[in-house]
Amino acid sequence: MANVPLRHIVPAPRDPAAAFAAIAPAVFARAGEVDAAAAFPAADIAALADAGLLTAPLPTALGGDGLASDAAQVDGLAALLTVVGDASLTVGRLYEGHCNAVLLADRYGGPLATLAAEAAAGRISGVWNAERGDGPLATRVAGGWRLTGRKIHCSGAGSLARPLVTARPEGSDAPLMFLPDMRGPGIAVDLAVWQAAGMRGTATGTVVFDGAFVADADTFGAPGDYYRAPLFAGGAWRVLAVQLGGLGRILALHAAALGRSGRGGDPVVRQRFAVAAGGYEQARLLVAEAARRATDPAADPPAAVAYVDLARGSFEALALAGIDAARRNVGLGAFLGPDPLDRCCRDLETYLRQPMLDASRDNAAAWLLPRGGRFEP
Ligand SMILES: Cc1cc2nc3c(=O)[nH]c(=O)nc-3n(C[C@H](O)[C@H](O)[C@H](O)COP(=O)(O)OP(=O)(O)OC[C@H]3O[C@@H](n4cnc5c(N)ncnc54)[C@H](O)[C@@H]3O)c2cc1C
Repeated sequence: MANVPLRHIVPAPRDPAAAFAAIAPAVFARAGEVDAAAAFPAADIAALADAGLLTAPLPTALGGDGLASDAAQVDGLAALLTVVGDASLTVGRLYEGHCNAVLLADRYGGPLATLAAEAAAGRISGVWNAERGDGPLATRVAGGWRLTGRKIHCSGAGSLARPLVTARPEGSDAPLMFLPDMRGPGIAVDLAVWQAAGMRGTATGTVVFDGAFVADADTFGAPGDYYRAPLFAGGAWRVLAVQLGGLGRILALHAAALGRSGRGGDPVVRQRFAVAAGGYEQARLLVAEAARRATDPAADPPAAVAYVDLARGSFEALALAGIDAARRNVGLGAFLGPDPLDRCCRDLETYLRQPMLDASRDNAAAWLLPRGGRFEP
């Protein structure tokens, strides 16, 4: 914790969503510039740090609020993720990754003190798991491991100093978790690959490890812990909570555009708006229940995962319908800047592309079929 700038040592917020509300207008106002420049939102991450929200996910013993891993705080975390997503899906995506890194380090014995020092210094973490082909291999060396290989879709590449990276030890299919120091040698970042339609400021690049050393102290989890249920598949509720914020923002912009054009009196327009508003309300209830079930320590893990899997598929359909209704009702204006509606739709469409959505629907159906399609008897 040495050399931590004093301005970042602020008490963890009691009501994190309220703490974010104070900076939300500025984050929303900057989101257009972040999109246009396709630049990592450094000013927004600094604002999160100043509001105490980078440390908030950490355990209280390390100066946090226990927000990421304390199941009793799930409503606070869900509300926070949604208000961040409402202001900027890009910032929400980055913040969700930070919460996930803290949660995994907390659950599986990772270097939380390092993450706490990083957060106190205003630096956000994240989780880089996606890969094409075999992904990086971890080779055992004295005092640690050397990582060699490529990770894809790494949000914050080039800006995150200590991301959580998964890699398989040689001869194994079960990954361990590593917290490499991205400022060290043997690591190259390629951001040119991120020519995205939306979520442009997430800086979601490719990272190539070429023998990068990670000390034992920065390596954690038993092989395969990363994928353990319900934390891995169930954790998708947090992504939905962020996306819900974006969907709510699209609905509000949709309503505002109709207010400006005066077309809200047209019955066809109102039909479409009702589809969008009803979809948002269904999504809101679904995400709240997914969060509750995924984090309930008494829940049966396969049942909790099946619920989140079902919620993911249903949310995608509701969100796409909300975007479609906004674009049809507002018309060409919904595709033109500087109105933020176009950007918000592009961001959500891009962010909805999540891993194995069809497989998760399939898993939910497999769980529900022998139970008459119901979670409750
Ligand atoms: C903005 C953004 C930021 C991201 N940041 C990160 C990050 O920081 N860290 C990280 O780890 N990841 C990140 N990701 C990547 C994310 O975790 C997923 O890997 C990615 O979104 C997968 O998208 P996809 O559409 O290619 O999914 P896929 O799962 O590849 O699905 C694409 C299509 O292929 C089908 N399909 C998939 N597998 C099979 C199969 N075996 N057989 C047949 N069909 C199949 C699916 O059903 C679907 O129709 C990010 C993604 C986005 C959008």
